[in-house]
Amino acid sequence: MATDTHTCTNTADNYSCHASPVALIDHVAIKHNIARLRQLLTYGQSNHTPRIWAVAKADAYGHTLELAYPGLCSADGLAVLTLDDVRHCRALGWTGPILAMSPQISRAELKDPVLYPLHLIIDHAEQLAHLAALNPRFAPHVWLRFRASLNHAGFNQTDYRKAYAFLQTALREGRLAGLGHLQHYASAEIAEQLRKERQAFQALIGGMPGSVCSENSAALLSDHAAAAATDWVRSGIAVYGISPLHGMSGHDLGLRPAMVLQAPVYGIQVLGAGEFLGYNSRFQATRQTRVGLVRCGYAHGYPRGLAEGCEVMVYGRKATIIGRVSMDTLTIDLSDLPDVSCNAMVTLWGTHELPIETVARQADTIPAQLCTALTARVPRLAMP
Ligand SMILES: *Cc1c(COP(=O)(O)O)cnc(C)c1O
Repeated sequence: MATDTHTCTNTADNYSCHASPVALIDHVAIKHNIARLRQLLTYGQSNHTPRIWAVAKADAYGHTLELAYPGLCSADGLAVLTLDDVRHCRALGWTGPILAMSPQISRAELKDPVLYPLHLIIDHAEQLAHLAALNPRFAPHVWLRFRASLNHAGFNQTDYRKAYAFLQTALREGRLAGLGHLQHYASAEIAEQLRKERQAFQALIGGMPGSVCSENSAALLSDHAAAAATDWVRSGIAVYGISPLHGMSGHDLGLRPAMVLQAPVYGIQVLGAGEFLGYNSRFQATRQTRVGLVRCGYAHGYPRGLAEGCEVMVYGRKATIIGRVSMDTLTIDLSDLPDVSCNAMVTLWGTHELPIETVARQADTIPAQLCTALTARVPRLAMP
């Protein structure tokens, strides 16, 4: 029976034999991106350069702490969410500063020497009592968080001043290793909003001594002169090579993507003119159409709601996704790529030609959502 329709057997002995998508993680790119941020922050004649927290929450934005770590460790410190995350970083061998951005603290909890040098974000009043009771042998550096216009966590202006006075006493008594000012922007990617938010923070902290940690990736990339005047920056998305700025790719900013998502072609179907493809018959062939079945779908974290015309790369050329993305399969038009057959690896995002920023735009979301939404069914592997 001569037919173009078949499914494949896995023969290749490299990672293309994966019957699932795979995300390849490039720690060298992470190292490059941190060096690039450092370069941007080294501004003018001043020999003051802020230190860099590499933000590694959500398992290093889906890249996994383990695989990202050899790159992340070129930062000055690692920023994570919880004290358990801090222990995870210590288990990987990190002995430098770690910032716990949303820690559940208690006096007993903070007596674990493995946590130090430890920095904590203090964003609500209940945390203060625990800090006041600390033994000076276990003194964290604390960052007081202004709630700013994001209004997720943090103190309003009045409570901020009170908490600051309280913590200054603890600092003088040797119960803290340091005390600084921190906020997180709501709209750092919009220049006008960024200026306003920055001004509000400056107005609040003027006259209260302490180091400053206010800049995320978007803020420091859109105004690195202002970021260079602070003491620590917190960068997540840019560390992974992804642009937080509208209309710009990581490449435009001198960054390199640290994740390439690939998936194998597991079958070929040929549609006659007029035939439909996929759920809801969203695609109808207008001519004979050679369809590649790619093993990746929304159950792997690939977005279902893509706009028409979203592309993938295969053998260095572009192919278009046609039909609905389903649970385990997406379908691509291979009519003009007759040499692409079973087991070919398709790149879904993470190269200069196909940045994750483009896929995110076509899925009406942001890149950080795509890379953190990859499910456990997508193995993360070190880039060979
Ligand atoms: C996630 C996060 C960051 C990093 O933000 P990016 O935009 O990814 O650079 C910084 N600070 C806080 C408090 C965060 O939650």
